[in-house]
Amino acid sequence: MSQRLPTPREPGEAVDTRPDLKAMTRLALTAWLADHLGESRFRGEQLFRWLHDKRARSFAEMTNLSKRLRARLSEDARIGGLDLDDVRVAKDGTRKLLLRTAAGDRIESVLIPMDEGRITQCVSSQVGCKIGCKFCLTARMPLRRGLSASEIVDQVLWARQVLGDEARVANLVYMGMGEPLDNYDNVVASLRILMDERGANFSSRRITVSSSGVVPKLERLGHDVPVNLAISLNASTDEQRSALIPINRVWNIETLLRTLRAYPLPPRRRITMEYVMLAGVNDTADDARRLVKLLKGLRCKVNLIPFNPWPGAPFGRPAPAAVDAFGKILRDARYTVTIRYSKGEDIGAACGQLDGQPEAS
Ligand code: SAH
Ligand code: SF4
Repeated sequence: MSQRLPTPREPGEAVDTRPDLKAMTRLALTAWLADHLGESRFRGEQLFRWLHDKRARSFAEMTNLSKRLRARLSEDARIGGLDLDDVRVAKDGTRKLLLRTAAGDRIESVLIPMDEGRITQCVSSQVGCKIGCKFCLTARMPLRRGLSASEIVDQVLWARQVLGDEARVANLVYMGMGEPLDNYDNVVASLRILMDERGANFSSRRITVSSSGVVPKLERLGHDVPVNLAISLNASTDEQRSALIPINRVWNIETLLRTLRAYPLPPRRRITMEYVMLAGVNDTADDARRLVKLLKGLRCKVNLIPFNPWPGAPFGRPAPAAVDAFGKILRDARYTVTIRYSKGEDIGAACGQLDGQPEAS
C-alpha cells in the first residue's frame, strides 16, 4: 500500500510561493512582468517564447535577457513543471511518460502512434480523480489535487523533447488521469497556453477535452475556449449511468444532453460521445437502440471503447462481435461510429489503466 503513496514533502520543507511563470498565459505573463519588474511587453513575449517554444527550464538559459533581469526573475519567480522519471515503450509503439510533480506526486501521459507518423498525446489533468467511475482505475486513487497549468503544459513539452525530430504530436486529448472540468481554471489556462501561436501553437481543432459531464463547467467551457468536446456517456439509462458514474445522480442524462444541445459548437464540429462497453452491463441491442433515441438531433459521433481490464476490475470486455453488432445499430441509424481498441495495454497505458504507478499493472 505504501507504494501507492506519493513521496511526502519533508517535514518543515518550505512551499515555494513565488509565482509560477510557466503557468501564466502570454497576456498574464506580460502583465506580471510589467507590474512587478516594470519590463516592456516585448520582454514578456521573449520570456513566453523561452518557456513554451524553446522549453527553457531555468532562467540562466535565457541568454537574450540581461543578466540583471535573469537574476531578478530567479529571485522573484519560478518555472513550474514536472520531472521526467522514465519512458515506457509498448509493443505497439505506444509510449508512456512517467512524470513527477515537485511535491512527489506521480502522473502519466501517453503518446499513441496514429496513421502516417502522427501522434496523439493523452494528457492528465489531476493527480487521482474524485468522480469515482466504477470501471476506471484512476478512480481507485484518492484525488490529491488538480495539476497546475504548467504541469499540464509540461507533459506536452516533455513529449516534444522525447520525440525530437522523430515524430510530432498532432493531436492532444485531455483523457488521462483526472476530470479536466474539476480543475477548470488550470485546464483552461493550459489550453490557452498550448494554443498560443508563440508557444506550442496547437489549433483548437486538434485538442479534445473529455468530461464525465460536470454540467455547470460544460456550460462555461464552450464560451471560454472553442476546443473539441468528448463526453463519457457510457450508459443508456439513468439507473445504469448512476451506478457507473456517481455524478449522474447530480446531473442526469437528460440534464447533460440538454446542456450538450445548447453547447456553442463551432461550425462543422461534432461532440464525441464516448461509450465504454462493459460485457453484460451496457452492451445489449436494447442499449444501442436507446442510445439512438437519446442522441437524436445532437451534433455528435459515437466512440465505442471496449473495456480495458485492470486487476480486480468488476467488469469484462464484450466479445468483438457484440461490439460490432452494437455499432451496426448506431450506424444503421446514421451515426458515425468509431471503435477504440486502446493501445499500450501491456504497459498499463490504455484508457482507464492510468494510476501513476511505474509498474505496468
Ligand atoms: N475524466 C474524463 C477524462 C479521462 S477518462 C472522462 O471521464 O471523460 C477518458 C475515457 O476513458 C473516458 O471516456 C472513460 O469513460 C474511459 N475509461 C475509463 N476507464 C476505462 C476502462 N477501464 N476501459 C475503457 N475506457 C475507460
Ligand atoms: Fe475520473 Fe474520468 Fe476515471 Fe471517471 S473515467 S474516474 S471521471 S478519470
